[in-house]
Amino acid sequence: MYAAPFEYHRASSVQEAVGLLQRYGDDAKLLAGGHSLLPVLKLRLSTIGHLIDIRRIEGLSGIREAGGEIVIGAATSHAALQHSQLLQQKLPILAEAAAQIGDPAVRNLGTIGGSLAHADPAADLPAVILALGSELRVEGPDGSRTIAADDCFTGLFSTALRPGEILTEIRVPVPTARTGTAYEKHAHPASGFAVVGIAAVLTAGTGNTIAQARIAVTGVGTAATRAGKAETMLMGQTPTPDLLQLAASKVPDGIAARGDLYAPPEFRAQLARVHAERALLRAWQRMR
Ligand code: FAD
Repeated sequence: MYAAPFEYHRASSVQEAVGLLQRYGDDAKLLAGGHSLLPVLKLRLSTIGHLIDIRRIEGLSGIREAGGEIVIGAATSHAALQHSQLLQQKLPILAEAAAQIGDPAVRNLGTIGGSLAHADPAADLPAVILALGSELRVEGPDGSRTIAADDCFTGLFSTALRPGEILTEIRVPVPTARTGTAYEKHAHPASGFAVVGIAAVLTAGTGNTIAQARIAVTGVGTAATRAGKAETMLMGQTPTPDLLQLAASKVPDGIAARGDLYAPPEFRAQLARVHAERALLRAWQRMR
């Protein structure tokens, strides 16, 4: 099926894109990689009068280190994340997760900003961004503001971005030296999306204890979320395989698991426990 006719605009700056969004309101959509938006338009699940292409805006893509943070432009492709040497050195979990998204065509066109703004409940990157304690910079008609990743994913395909706002960059604090990270995913055999994805970030304290644990889950509920109960169990503790398994068993607690033909809620919750244990064990090995 073809999308209903729309007018195409190629924005050359973030300000221009914000202005176009203001002018056309609900009748406009931003286009990044198009790998989530175009299927929606082609199936006519949504129709719009104006498509605002932000892919060619200078400075909206790229990965750099600045002031103890890794700064990632919203239009950076999944493939660029996957192959970035900076990420492989400083934030390997992000490169690792990006490598597991879809297939090469999806990774070459799809962008981190599109993935976070779309907030598909089965997307990989929201969990990673949450586990890394990131911040999202957005630009809108009232200027720019920052959204903590913890406050960003508010529900099914819903985020804290306000109408008219554009996500411009993702800022991730560079983890301290003794931090171990891992992303574990059960991919849907047909789509490649995460039936369950677990991002684990463990930071060592004195001795062999865990000073900080951040665990985030995607695929299970309507939105990516932290596994607070499991995190609390690990903080200040000396990890052992048994403790990690116990914490992993708590990961689905408090999340209303979704169900579909492939994975009913109980199976999803069990997948979360299994993948959380794998992610925690790998993060612990890397932390040591
Ligand atoms: P677009 O489709 O261009 O946009 C998506 C939405 O976000 C639109 O509403 C758009 O207006 C909005 N938007 C885009 N950029 C911004 C911005 N900077 N600020 C504000 N709003 C913005 N994803 C996974 O995580 N894991 C997978 O395994 C996976 N497999 C896939 C397999 C297939 C076959 C396909 C088609 C997609 C798959 N995806 C998967 C989704 C893919 O990662 C998409 O690229 C991503 O969800 C959206 O990014 P995009 O750049 O294509 O955004």
